[in-house]
Amino acid sequence: MRELARVKNLETLGLFYTKITDAGLKELKPLQHLTSLYLCGTKITDGGLAALRSCERLEHVNLWLCKISDRGVQELIRVSKPYKLVSRDVKAENTVITFAGTDATFGGPGLAVIAGPCAIENREQSMAVAEQVFRAGAQFFRGGAYKPRTSPYSFQGLGEQGLQIMAEVRDKFGMKIVTEAIDNESLDLVEKYADVIQIGARNMQNFSLLKRAGRARKPVLLKRGMAATLEEFLMAAEYVMSEGNYKVILCERGVRTFADHTRNTLDLSIVPAVQRLSHLPIVVDPSHGTGKRNKVTPLSRAAIAVGADGLIVEVHHDPDRAMSDGIQSLYPEQFDELMKQVRQIAPVVGRMVPAIGSHPRASETLSAQSGVRSAISPLA
Ligand code: PEP
Ligand code: MN
Repeated sequence: MRELARVKNLETLGLFYTKITDAGLKELKPLQHLTSLYLCGTKITDGGLAALRSCERLEHVNLWLCKISDRGVQELIRVSKPYKLVSRDVKAENTVITFAGTDATFGGPGLAVIAGPCAIENREQSMAVAEQVFRAGAQFFRGGAYKPRTSPYSFQGLGEQGLQIMAEVRDKFGMKIVTEAIDNESLDLVEKYADVIQIGARNMQNFSLLKRAGRARKPVLLKRGMAATLEEFLMAAEYVMSEGNYKVILCERGVRTFADHTRNTLDLSIVPAVQRLSHLPIVVDPSHGTGKRNKVTPLSRAAIAVGADGLIVEVHHDPDRAMSDGIQSLYPEQFDELMKQVRQIAPVVGRMVPAIGSHPRASETLSAQSGVRSAISPLA
């Protein structure tokens, strides 16, 4: 082994019917170019496999007729790819995230539609937008109580008061709540109130926040950083999962390019790229992805056509007076039209949009108050 370790550029190594000790596997450490290892007829101890973790580039470990314990298999998962838990190698079937009391899912045949204002500004605004997006068929209500703003002088969000307003929205309409945590402190509160914890683009590589989200008991919607590669994006999800939270939803929200006709360039090609490598659901944010209201509906159509598991869309009842992101926020009528178009496109790609108001209490409230179609009524 010691001799082998001197072959510095060795990329592939096969050891057949050899006696290899833990100490021997540790000797592989200097082989920093080693990407593939084949072991056949070898008895491998847990300690030996743990030693393989020091080979940083090792991606493929192939074992035939080897004796290996359960713990050893776990250890192998950790050594066999830079992103392991997010990978389809570990879990071939799609992850489906469900929510008790509704038929909303991420990653199931039903598309997930999240809609609401950029920021929770006050109770009246939130209720007004919530009612409109609920009527159009959104199953999730979005809105920031903590806003990561470019300027420290811009509106920073209502904090816990904003979360309380969101909880009221959930009670009244039955929509599940998606809201952003910007640091460990806000995550404690967001975890308490929200149904889905959003980690924003600016925090995609805030590793301590990702780890904290990994210890949370709620699903995490992880937005792609504005200059993140596919691998960096998946590694960020890996951070969350490595702490034990396997309910991660990825979100493409546009990346920085030279284009000046949009705020960001919505990279829809990442959807099939993610789906090839990972079992995690991926949704698309055409609002931040374009930054322009008139581009949100066309890009939503494209996102569904490309195979996204859902959409997150900014809607405001009075966008000209919105405290943030008014120019990319849809008017409620535009969101209603967007939903109609999404309902038409979904079956073409084998998907559907769950019925309006899948929360029984919400549909009772609304049908009594304002004649909204009930959860079980067929769609127009
Ligand atoms: C948002 O969803 O309001 C937001 C701030 O998004 P992003 O992190 O993608 O900029
Ligand atoms: Mn916004």
